[in-house]
Amino acid sequence: RAKAEGKSRLARYDPRDSARQITQHTLATALPAALTRQEFFCDYQPIVGLEDRRLRGVEALIRWRHPQLGIVAPNQFIPVAEETGHIAAVGRWVLAAACRQAGEWAAANPTLTCYISVNVAVGQLRRPGLVDDVMQVLTDGGMPPERLQLELTESAVLGDDRGPVGELQRLADAGVRLAIDDFGTGYANLAYLTRLPVRQVKLAGEFLKPLRTGSSVDPKHDRLLSAIITLAHDLGLSVTAEGVEHQAQADRLRALGCDAAQGWLFGRPGPAEQVGRLIARQNSQP
Ligand code: C2E
Ligand code: MG
Ligand code: MG
Ligand code: MG
Repeated sequence: RAKAEGKSRLARYDPRDSARQITQHTLATALPAALTRQEFFCDYQPIVGLEDRRLRGVEALIRWRHPQLGIVAPNQFIPVAEETGHIAAVGRWVLAAACRQAGEWAAANPTLTCYISVNVAVGQLRRPGLVDDVMQVLTDGGMPPERLQLELTESAVLGDDRGPVGELQRLADAGVRLAIDDFGTGYANLAYLTRLPVRQVKLAGEFLKPLRTGSSVDPKHDRLLSAIITLAHDLGLSVTAEGVEHQAQADRLRALGCDAAQGWLFGRPGPAEQVGRLIARQNSQP
């Protein structure tokens, strides 16, 4: 297909394309050393219950501190890691780092029950080893499996017909929580929800944009949101809304029965200490 389009692509030459390629190449070349040089780190973002605003979970979000390029966002380098076969190593690093951090919070706060939520890339599910990696990390850290949530995208769980159902079932049987990230952005055949041992859907932030003001609620959009939340609940799934920036959105989501939320309104992604302080503050208010 690229070949067929080659001519027209040349005709519409855009210098930004080559800049993008150079960056991709730079990232791909620097990826292997980034692991050994410990250039990756995680920011952590709280996930709170909409009824009580208390911490339910924390999502780990990877970043890359590149010596020349500065902080590189995951949307830039995760696809490169997928293409160059480094995703398994990067995925193992995040899993270990996030679980180690969760272990520290748990050690400092014995009554803490929140889970740590880790994103899993398509490429991590496509090759064997994810289940072993997860089990290893849980064992190493002495972490109860129900304290770990894995966020999967629809494209990761659909894929070919063999699919990762067996792997996911093993993880779920062990007690690990599975969530569908960016729910509603794919063109998925929703039947997968009945086949997979998923416990939560994370409603994509795009769904919240029309709720920004609260005053001008589009009735059709409101019914769509309501139907999605009801559908998820009927299937026994909890619903977390992503990208909640405004109080009006939180209010509407709560009225529609949405369980939990994540977004700038409740806390931006930040260093582990930020979540540590949130936990401490929460512990002091019964
Ligand atoms: P995601 O998993 O859906 O993560 C949510 C993204 O929304 C994060 O972007 C977060 O910073 C951002 N966000 C949170 N609250 C708000 C808000 O109120 N408003 C807006 N506009 N954005 C908000 P981030 O950190 O840039 O990550 C982007 C994506 O990169 C993630 O989307 C996830 O798909 C991927 N990613 C991040 N960390 C990892 C990782 O460790 N492994 C893998 N495979 N993918 C990762
Ligand atoms: Mg996520
Ligand atoms: Mg998401
Ligand atoms: Mg996303």
